[in-house]
Amino acid sequence: MSSSRVLVLNSGSSSVKYQLLDMRDSSRLAMGLVERIGEESSRLKHTPLASGGASREWTGPMADHEAALKAVSAELAKDGLGLDSPELAAIGHRVVHGGRHFTEPTVIDDAVLAEIERLIPVAPLHNPANLTGIRTARHLRPDLPQVAVFDTAFHTTMPESAARYAIDVETADRHRIRRYGFHGTSHAYVSRATAKLLGKAPEDVNVIVLHLGNGASASAVRGGKCVDTSMGLTPLEGLVMGTRSGDMDPAVIFHLMRVGGMSTDEIDTLLNKKSGLIGLCGDNDMREIRRRIDEGDQRAALAFDIYIHRLKKYIGAYYAVLGKVDAIAFTAGVGENAAPVREAAVAGLEELGMVVDGALNAVRSDEPRLISPGHARVAVAVVPTDEELEIATQTYALVGRI
Ligand code: ADP
Repeated sequence: MSSSRVLVLNSGSSSVKYQLLDMRDSSRLAMGLVERIGEESSRLKHTPLASGGASREWTGPMADHEAALKAVSAELAKDGLGLDSPELAAIGHRVVHGGRHFTEPTVIDDAVLAEIERLIPVAPLHNPANLTGIRTARHLRPDLPQVAVFDTAFHTTMPESAARYAIDVETADRHRIRRYGFHGTSHAYVSRATAKLLGKAPEDVNVIVLHLGNGASASAVRGGKCVDTSMGLTPLEGLVMGTRSGDMDPAVIFHLMRVGGMSTDEIDTLLNKKSGLIGLCGDNDMREIRRRIDEGDQRAALAFDIYIHRLKKYIGAYYAVLGKVDAIAFTAGVGENAAPVREAAVAGLEELGMVVDGALNAVRSDEPRLISPGHARVAVAVVPTDEELEIATQTYALVGRI
């Protein structure tokens, strides 16, 4: 294939994040972000990595995603990398929900679009925004292969015992209620990169991946295949997150309706946007929480303890699910940067063969690395995630086969 560039688009309802990669060497040529689409003060930040130039920022009205993508293309064109370039091989789109149907990256056609649309009831916030991005990109480059890479795909290998909720089967099936899991692109990339770090093939290792960003999820990966993950029908289930509660007795919701007089939307907002670390202590940034703890702040300390308690429970649960664990991998903003979180999550798990070396844990690096001592039975690793590279790699591999 002579064209070797892939544009990766992550479209939100009022934002688009993008990266342009050259797949001959997986290098990044440009990256950027458009925010506040549809407002008077839309903002574009573009970083031209290939030319090594400074980031350029632009603020002004951008009516819709089409205007935003045209502005992005104009910025890329300044370095000869515009959307109309013949060097562009494909566009890879992050799509949050692929349901049970999409188990692999998929070249987008009208039938695929219709299926993503059919999944809107289970992903009302994300899929419509992803669809807008796809439609806009197809409109601008109808001749170009466009690929959907699904956040849920890696988790479609989960056995029914892990994927089904223990509720009435007919009701669950009628409403497509089951555990889908998210962050799959990251879990796939990090579990493979962890195997590589250990010098082994993905088929030969069992890994617990802890993706700890503002959203957070854990997964149990056996021989390269996901067998359980902590997020469920939606990203609300599982770990304590920046603004989401994670696991909770579902009866809390009935209680808030009956006794608290709250509406469905109010509870949705409470649990997704005002809970987790921000609900517990008023901050969702782990740096700020650690700073407050260092100053003796009790609320921040309790929030941290609740966060760690849940994380530890999942490590134990996934140890039991896997039976044998070769490695735990920490990734995403918190996992890659917050040494105190890694130390506390693994503390006391020596009997499970899990130990963190204080000096190794304190090292700051962008490279995958081990933070467990050489004699440890279970490798504890920090493995920076790269969802854009994974989307670009999967997209390029797929269009190469067309
Ligand atoms: P998302 O993609 O879910 O928005 P990220 O993976 O970028 O999130 O993670 C963002 C979070 O990472 C921040 O909210 C913050 O809590 C945490 N974080 C980033 N840098 C650091 C750091 N140096 N130390 C501790 N936590 C950090």
